[in-house]
Amino acid sequence: MTENNIKSVCVYCGSRLGNKPYYQELANSLGKMIADADMSLVYGAGSVGLMGVVARAARDSGGEVIGIIPEHLDDVEITQEGLTELHITDNMHERKKMMFDRSDAFIVLPGGLGTLDETMEMMTWAQLSLHKKPIILINYKDFWSPLVELIEHVVSDGFASDEHGKLLTVVETAEEAMELLKS
Ligand code: AMP
Repeated sequence: MTENNIKSVCVYCGSRLGNKPYYQELANSLGKMIADADMSLVYGAGSVGLMGVVARAARDSGGEVIGIIPEHLDDVEITQEGLTELHITDNMHERKKMMFDRSDAFIVLPGGLGTLDETMEMMTWAQLSLHKKPIILINYKDFWSPLVELIEHVVSDGFASDEHGKLLTVVETAEEAMELLKS
C-alpha cells in the first residue's frame, strides 16, 4: 500500500488499563500520532481501558474517531462521548466486520482475550487471502513476546507456512508502527 492508501487505522487493545502506567502512556501517544497523521481511528467505541485512552487522545488532538459497539456492550464498555461517528451493531460479529471494513490497517496494543481474538481473526482472514491490510503488533516492553514466540513455534512445527508466520509485523514502539503506515 502507498502512503495515501492508509486513511484509517483500527486499534485493537485492552478494555482494561493493565497494571503498569506505561501501557496508558503508549495508548495515549498512539492516539495522538494517529490524529497528527490525519488518519481516522477505528475502534470498539468504549471509554474504558486502553480503548478509552487511545480514543480520547485522538479526539482531543483533533482526529476523527469512529467507534463501533454492539448494543449489549454499551453498559459494559461505556460508550465514549464525543466520537465523530458512533455505530451500534446488533452483535459482536457485525461489530468486528464493520471495524474491518472501515479500516485500511490494524495496530495491536497490549490487551486481553478480546484483543487476542481480534488479532487472530485479522491474521486468519489474511491467511485465507480475504485481505492484504497490514497488521502491526506493538510489542512494547516485550508484552507480546509470548505471542510472537507461539506463532514462531506454530510455524517451526509445521502448522503454518513461513509466509503466514510473517502476517503480523512486529515493532516495539508506536513511532515505528506509524512510520510503517506512512511508508
Ligand atoms: P480485551 O482485550 O479482552 O480487554 O477486549 C478488548 C476488546 O475486544 C473489547 O472491546 C471486547 O469487546 C472485544 N472483543 C472482541 N472479540 C471478543 C471476544 N470474542 N471475546 C471478548 N471480547 C472480544
